[in-house]
Amino acid sequence: MEEYLGFKTLRGNKLDIVALVVFGLMCFGSVSVLLDDIRNGNDKNSVGAGILLLVLFAWGVIAAVLRMLDRALAYKIAEYFYTYPKTEIYEDLLGKELKMTSPAKKILKLQRRKYMQGINYDLSNRCFFAYIKQPVHRESAGVPVKCPQCGANCTVYPERALNKCPFCDLQLVIGVNIDLL
Ligand SMILES: [Zn+2]
Repeated sequence: MEEYLGFKTLRGNKLDIVALVVFGLMCFGSVSVLLDDIRNGNDKNSVGAGILLLVLFAWGVIAAVLRMLDRALAYKIAEYFYTYPKTEIYEDLLGKELKMTSPAKKILKLQRRKYMQGINYDLSNRCFFAYIKQPVHRESAGVPVKCPQCGANCTVYPERALNKCPFCDLQLVIGVNIDLL
């Protein structure tokens, strides 16, 4: 899934949390200083400087939050691309599946901010395609076995956590009640 995210998405969340806390505390501090200034009837310059600082710190908080939101959105979209069985996805479908209006606009915006890579947009077809090869997680063909309880011919998939006999519902556990040849 990392292929769809771009390195900027994968890093920086911790940093942004730190930034959020630091700028948040500074906001808090500058508000209290500002209130003191106003309460003590201090001159306009120090009040103005206080407001300026507050705006600066608030901007730090907002920027960190926006980056975190971008990252969360990038993850959500990348996850969908990762699990979608085809390499191309039509924009209408993507919007419907992710309950998102104009996903193209959002993805292109994220890409401009270097958050999502590995996905291209075909403007004329209104279709996205993953140009990094889709990871294959197709299931194996399975191994034919005989059910030890009812004797039916069934198939077990070694990559599955749970295999059952479709006829008698017996749980088939490789190495316990069935052996692969
Ligand atoms: Zn059986």
